[in-house]
Amino acid sequence: MLGLMMDRQLTITSIMEHADKNHPNAEIVSVTCDNPRHRYTYAGAFRRTRRLANALVDYGVQPGDRIATLAWNDYRHFELYYGIAGIGAVTHTVNPRLFPEQITYIVNHAEDRLIFVDPLIVASLEKISKDLPKVEGYIVLTDDEHMPDTNLKNAQSYEAFIGRHSAEFDWPELDEKTACSLCYTSGTTGNPKGILYHHRAMVLHTLIGISPGVLDLSVKDVVLPIVPMFHVNAWGLAYGPPAAGTKLVLPGPRMGDGETLQALIEEEGVTFAAGVPTVWLALLKYLSDSGKAIKTLERVIIGGSACPLSIMQELEDKHGVYVHHAWGMTEMSPLGTVNTLKPEMLKLSREEQYAIRQKQGRAAYGIEMKIVDDDNRELPRDGQSTGLLKVRGPFICSDYYKLGEPSDVHDDEGWFSTSDVGNIDPEGYLQLTDRAKDVIKSGGEWISSIELENAAIGHPGVAEAAVIGVPHPKWAERPLLIIVRKEGKDVSKEEMLDWLKDKVAKWWLPDDVVCIDEIPHTATGKIQKMELRKRFRNYTFQPD
Ligand code: ADP
Repeated sequence: MLGLMMDRQLTITSIMEHADKNHPNAEIVSVTCDNPRHRYTYAGAFRRTRRLANALVDYGVQPGDRIATLAWNDYRHFELYYGIAGIGAVTHTVNPRLFPEQITYIVNHAEDRLIFVDPLIVASLEKISKDLPKVEGYIVLTDDEHMPDTNLKNAQSYEAFIGRHSAEFDWPELDEKTACSLCYTSGTTGNPKGILYHHRAMVLHTLIGISPGVLDLSVKDVVLPIVPMFHVNAWGLAYGPPAAGTKLVLPGPRMGDGETLQALIEEEGVTFAAGVPTVWLALLKYLSDSGKAIKTLERVIIGGSACPLSIMQELEDKHGVYVHHAWGMTEMSPLGTVNTLKPEMLKLSREEQYAIRQKQGRAAYGIEMKIVDDDNRELPRDGQSTGLLKVRGPFICSDYYKLGEPSDVHDDEGWFSTSDVGNIDPEGYLQLTDRAKDVIKSGGEWISSIELENAAIGHPGVAEAAVIGVPHPKWAERPLLIIVRKEGKDVSKEEMLDWLKDKVAKWWLPDDVVCIDEIPHTATGKIQKMELRKRFRNYTFQPD
């Protein structure tokens, strides 16, 4: 028997309409390249979004068309998220930090018709625009007054594009499975792959994301997404705040700038922020150099790569900010797990609590996860048994966009292979030990590069650390620790090994420690182990 409930579709248009009617006066504050502090309200934002929708329809954008953005976190990008998807087209967020060949590949693969581009990105886009034959025109995210000189085809300013259009628009009733946005993985192996999100997935991800025990957002909060809007929907932070009525603070192109972040936090009263470990390093350095504070900030989410204990402790001890470690993937919209302690755990010692809090956390409702062995057999949730992590759920991708070949990441029961390796404890906490391709196998046993890196980065002289496996005649592979020293600090191999010896198992201790000037990063700020492995491919351990 079917239930008797209304069949209202779950669309992100409904998030917009909810905010417009229920939180019209909640603010959105942005840094843009033409205004250091633009501010307006959700009502103002959605008025302009309706003008944008009229402009897109008038231009001839059809449902299903892909429209690209190459932009930082600001109010115009926010309007694009809703305006494009609201008319049934697809907001394709492109990461401007990717290599030019990757941007060319992605835009051509998606067959984007228009590109909305930040003025600061215009010059780099000009260099590749001749290789983007399907793009019909470029809209620069500024007004006529600040419009840069450009040879981009059919270029015009965003304000001119939406300017003459009405702020009245009847949003179409979309099927909830209509595609709304597209984001490519950074493609550390092979070409980038597109994840095509639909409205329903975004709404479910939003509802679960803002709920207590996950991000716990409400009208009382002021949210600063330091995770870019071009990377997995800013971890849901373009949708969660309007759904919850939360004030939104968008740092524009100044995302990596400690001074701007500190000023935004203090002056706008930010209570909640989210970002990858590297942005916190930049902010913490600025705070320590300037002696300034971030008093209003209560809690942050750190994810994207493992959160070093040293960042967690510095944020808490010096600034009173509680850190939640989280894990996710582009393929998962991205939320997978968030680390919050259960009440009985609050009675544990600080060290015991930190041991739990360094794990990636518990699955958000809606995410099923399991660890399997090489034969795809589920392993016990004992916090020890380690294997490949598989996931399933309504906001996890069922396939890649136009892959041209069957994807091999789903098994017969619909589980998606994450390429992450780890364990799950009896309380449900996931602990990642490695990415499958980074695993170090020494004498048949796994050594966690993540744990070694975290321990190494806690050393006061170390700015960054990476561990890779290097072939070894006896053990097959042994860990090599690569570090970047902090300015003016000297760290010897002996000192490093001495620092690590009571933090990891003895047989995990790296066989060598090398210092380099810079560790290569991907466009999303993650360590590029493949590059490091290439660089050290002729490295051999010296016999003891
Ligand atoms: P990519 O880096 O491949 O473009 P994502 O940005 O989607 O893709 O990154 C997802 C991956 O990042 C995860 O599969 C995992 O390996 C890593 N990751 C994300 N969060 C964490 C975390 N908290 N700890 C360790 N690894 C993480």
